[in-house]
Amino acid sequence: MEYTVKIHKRSKKLSLRIGKDGMPQVTIPAFTPKFIVKKFVAQNKHWIQKHQKIKKDSIAQFLTNSSVTLFGKRYKIKIISTLQPSKVSLLDDVIQIAFHNTSKKRLHPSFNSSNPPVFFTKFLKNTATHYIIKRIVDLAEKMDIKYKNIHFKEQTTRWGSCSSKGNLNFNWRLVHFAPKIIDYVIIHELAHREQMNHSDKFWQLVEKHDPEYRLNRRWLKETGSKID
Ligand SMILES: [Zn+2]
Repeated sequence: MEYTVKIHKRSKKLSLRIGKDGMPQVTIPAFTPKFIVKKFVAQNKHWIQKHQKIKKDSIAQFLTNSSVTLFGKRYKIKIISTLQPSKVSLLDDVIQIAFHNTSKKRLHPSFNSSNPPVFFTKFLKNTATHYIIKRIVDLAEKMDIKYKNIHFKEQTTRWGSCSSKGNLNFNWRLVHFAPKIIDYVIIHELAHREQMNHSDKFWQLVEKHDPEYRLNRRWLKETGSKID
């Protein structure tokens, strides 16, 4: 079984998680012999397979070859070719993906959700960043909380995180989720500006601004990714 290894000086034991693309990632204390890591992965084979499947099913359902979920609403994908530059349009419950095509053959373009065209990914990222930044500004004002920079990332399995320097990181794939879920992630990270932990005080602050945070938290957990 393939896996990646990350050395973490402060960790005292081996731990496991499923990274992007479903690759198992083992975090080990420094100086852990290779055979121990190998044995650890072998012992957790069933856990890995189970969680790879959960992850695949849960994330993949938001973008398939025939539909995409945006802010919790499902849109059917309609593919057309155009002489104009490629573009994405929202039409009621249909998302139209128009491929620029100048060839005389007029091949019917196809859409592959596991390898979407760059302009479509750009559309998702732009939609996510505009929406999320606006919500951060509104919620931070309501919570009276300050922050430094906002970054959007994809490479982690995390939906959001907050650095000790006060920078907020969000996964732009949040664009698939309902507004209340996105709000929960933002409120969670902003609350870390006051409480850099998951203490009772922290959760009280989250609850103050998101009374349904337990439901939202559970929903997110079921999609298989982490929030820090
Ligand atoms: Zn947290």
